[in-house]
Amino acid sequence: ERMISAEAQGMEDTLDQSIRPNNLKQYIGQEKVKSNLHVFMEAARMREECLDHVLLYGPPGLGKTTLSSIIANEMGVQMRTTSGPAIERPGDLAAILTALEPGDVLFIDEIHRLNRMVEEVLYPAMEDFCLDIVIGKGPTARSVRLDLPPFTLVGATTRAGMLSAPLRDRFGVLARLEYYTESELAIIIKRTAEIFETEIDEKAAVEIARRSRGTPRIANRLLRRVRDFAQVKGDGIITLELAQNSLEQLQVDRLGLDHIDHKLLFGMIEKYRGGPVGIETISATIGEEPDTIEDVYEPYLLQIGFIQRTPRGRIVTPACYQHFNMEVPGP
Ligand code: ADP
Repeated sequence: ERMISAEAQGMEDTLDQSIRPNNLKQYIGQEKVKSNLHVFMEAARMREECLDHVLLYGPPGLGKTTLSSIIANEMGVQMRTTSGPAIERPGDLAAILTALEPGDVLFIDEIHRLNRMVEEVLYPAMEDFCLDIVIGKGPTARSVRLDLPPFTLVGATTRAGMLSAPLRDRFGVLARLEYYTESELAIIIKRTAEIFETEIDEKAAVEIARRSRGTPRIANRLLRRVRDFAQVKGDGIITLELAQNSLEQLQVDRLGLDHIDHKLLFGMIEKYRGGPVGIETISATIGEEPDTIEDVYEPYLLQIGFIQRTPRGRIVTPACYQHFNMEVPGP
């Protein structure tokens, strides 16, 4: 498995509960999103209403689930969690919605993967807090309207563009989460280390942060592995040298790139002189689905400016050649 995958992996989620921030104060970074949400929550509380529906979008591991549970905490309600692919039929959604308590937060991860039929049930639920249920079949079928408790839907998606327009329009708050800066990640790493009761040097925290691809989930994962090295190979304290050696061992380079990034970049450089290359061609070259490349591998490489999208395909930038000490090819 990929050390620096931004997706949650196996046991990680259960371990995560202890390190997950519980309130907005503990939630590092994303200042604009936080201050807006703070105002909207405060206003809803003053009016004794529930918060308007919120759509959180951005790459995996940036804190969408965490933010949703913070919203529930701050509003003093429960959060129910489900995901787009888990809700197969309208009846599944009806069962979830009718079980909500007034004011609850319903978190739907990967909301872009809801199917059409389920989505249509969701519209009146979001707009008027009601369900239209069809009873019977054929000419005798009739529709019954069922009232629901008011609730806040928090939807999460990696790409807002993949949501259907009618669904997107029903969210009152749209918030885009950004990659974190090195210093924000260093703060998150130090906070997690404190919860783990592990001593870590400032410089070591910055070193791990630098290789975390702007992503808190990756930062926490790298910290866990480096902590293992500290325990077995050192005296339990995470120093800069120990962090560097462990990360080397884990094959995560100075910028948090690993063998898959290398395969992608070198594939483009060696076979196509750095591009432009179409996504389908890249896909065939490295044997990964185009969607996976676009959702998982590419966003960070675009973010750090190692590849660029042009109308004719992706190109490798001079910054990338420099990182690998390679000469930038002439025209
Ligand atoms: P997503 O739902 O976007 O995939 P998560 O909410 O599951 O991401 O976040 C992954 C992990 O990263 C969380 O368990 C949490 O510990 C940590 N995390 C995310 N955002 C923050 C933040 N702003 N401050 C501190 N820790 C964070």
